[in-house]
Amino acid sequence: MRELNFISTGKLEWIERIDPKLLTGDDAIVRPIVVGRCDADTLPIHRRVSRAMQAGLKTGLIDPAVGSICGPVPFQGPFAIGHEAIAEVVETGPYVKGLRAGDKVVVPWSVSCGRCGMCRRGLTSKCSIARNGRTIAAYGFGPACGPYGGMVADLIRVPFAEHMLVPLPGGLDPLRVAAASDNLSDGWRTVVPQLRDRPGASVLVLGGGGKSIGLYAAGLAVAHGASKVDYVDTSHRRLEVAEALGADSHQQSRKFVSPGSGYDIVVEASSTGTGIRNAVRATAPGGICTAIGYYFRTNTGIPLMHMYANDITLHVGVSHPRAVLPELLDWVNSNNFPAEKVTSHVADFDDAPTAYAEHATKLVLQRPALIQH
Ligand SMILES: [Zn+2]
Ligand SMILES: [Zn+2]
Repeated sequence: MRELNFISTGKLEWIERIDPKLLTGDDAIVRPIVVGRCDADTLPIHRRVSRAMQAGLKTGLIDPAVGSICGPVPFQGPFAIGHEAIAEVVETGPYVKGLRAGDKVVVPWSVSCGRCGMCRRGLTSKCSIARNGRTIAAYGFGPACGPYGGMVADLIRVPFAEHMLVPLPGGLDPLRVAAASDNLSDGWRTVVPQLRDRPGASVLVLGGGGKSIGLYAAGLAVAHGASKVDYVDTSHRRLEVAEALGADSHQQSRKFVSPGSGYDIVVEASSTGTGIRNAVRATAPGGICTAIGYYFRTNTGIPLMHMYANDITLHVGVSHPRAVLPELLDWVNSNNFPAEKVTSHVADFDDAPTAYAEHATKLVLQRPALIQH
């Protein structure tokens, strides 16, 4: 079978692999039919970061956690890339109940067991059983995150399949939720629980780093009744998408900080040190700021005294899609939330090596399902 591999900046290739097999009775083999490109995947594809990050790890400018996820030479090819997929079930082990060949399922980016203490708390991306001593157990980040490969592949093996695989509700277009495995769930966790706690709260989204995540967050905030949603970015196209999702767009300029301050809920999706400092300062007293980006540097200059004085909560951490997927998928389906408006390019799965390197806000690959029932 083919597996898309990151080779070096701007270069991706299909590599032939032996088809994955069921290793335990809890496994499933699935065939991705719709694959989204995570915002983070564009980092090594579009920027030559590997050597600089290796040097940064050695000198202490970059946090050692980066090495524990990406290895001592971060983003060194070749490694299997991709971790957002809707797949059709091909084969299940004898202990997997409730799934059969042909079912359409979401495969979360991180691997989780569903039974350990972390999973029961909803912290599925920190599942202690799946991680088995690793920082993260996941698809598409290279061998430091486990033996799972990437999701841009003809077939993938899914452990703990009965728990891991979340069936797509009937009638929900896979293209609408192409990013459910990661980026859409990530947008969800930044605004939906917060707006439930504080109905009608005001929301600011600093976008452009997590290019699709910021847009999903803005759209979800509008749809969940925020009194105002301001979206900030440098890209005209993304500003238009944010407007189409009902947010108020603001062009980011060099001197720009934010349209104001005093937002109850702030989403930091610029993935920059300046962004996270601005996001914290734009948060209202008693408000909550969620940062979804990677902040590689050991010194980010987060204004702790300002946070103390204003009782601001800053949430930084990986997303836990498996914990929110059933609710998210049902909500998107019953509310016809147009998440596909964020998708800027849909390409044929077979064209992955060239398509996956494109400069696009959100790339989605697709191919027809093989099994009908
Ligand atoms: Zn991701
Ligand atoms: Zn677990």
